[in-house]
Amino acid sequence: EPVDGTPVTVRGVTVRFGGLRAMSDVSTRIETASVHGLIGPNGAGKSTFVNTLTGLYTPSAGDIRIGDTSIVGASPAQIARLGVARTFQNIQLFGHMSVIENVLVGLHLAYRSNLVDALVRSRRYRCEERENRERAQALLAFVGLAGAANQDARSLPYGQQRLLEIARALATEPKVLLLDEPAAGLLPSDIDALMAILRRVRAGGRTLLLIEHHMDMVMALCDRITVLDFGEKIAEGSPDEVTSDPKVVEAYLGA
Ligand code: ADP
Ligand code: MG
Repeated sequence: EPVDGTPVTVRGVTVRFGGLRAMSDVSTRIETASVHGLIGPNGAGKSTFVNTLTGLYTPSAGDIRIGDTSIVGASPAQIARLGVARTFQNIQLFGHMSVIENVLVGLHLAYRSNLVDALVRSRRYRCEERENRERAQALLAFVGLAGAANQDARSLPYGQQRLLEIARALATEPKVLLLDEPAAGLLPSDIDALMAILRRVRAGGRTLLLIEHHMDMVMALCDRITVLDFGEKIAEGSPDEVTSDPKVVEAYLGA
């Protein structure tokens, strides 16, 4: 079903850890219904970008807007309620829970807005629970895990755990989905499946940020790409523009 995605506007953002500037005066705009790539060498500040967008880190300067709403100083929970979801560079699933329960956690996060609402919902609990299970099952089907619903999450092969993490993030109905190296450690066949899923997520209208080192994937999928190096934005543009930029070749693509 189509979604109203939200653009993300980053203006002059600096993030410091002591004397280190992990992000230095970074500005960019991530458009709705697009896949925006974020690339650069290890330590360039890519994960810091995602951690700052989700409220784990607070910028020392600059502004970040989800749509029209500034999120500087907002808590991770407040930012999640604005429709921002993420996956982690290191998979973070509830390994002891079943595959479908991991998606149900995402659904509960999405619908639990306040206490009164939760109470009203608890009266409709049975009906709601069945609807949630159907919705979770549909999300599992979307990522190709319909047959694995009742397995322990930790029993899934690594690539499928990645897809489950994406299904859980999608369960929160995000307007913005941030993916931190989703293809790391995946087999080529898993990467093809992942790309097909992300294309469908984009077609649904969501805003996607993709951090990735697999350049074939980045080039095939991204509408625009921002390149970071030592916390600074050194290039931005279409895949062709970025890959032919001498600064990018020198900092990241060369050798
Ligand atoms: P990337 O994801 O591009 O590899 P990171 O954003 O993880 O890079 O890191 C950028 C820089 O910020 C690195 O030098 C890293 O050591 C530093 N850094 C990231 N997070 C923290 C933190 N919580 N505390 C201190 N330094 C950090
Ligand atoms: Mg990282």
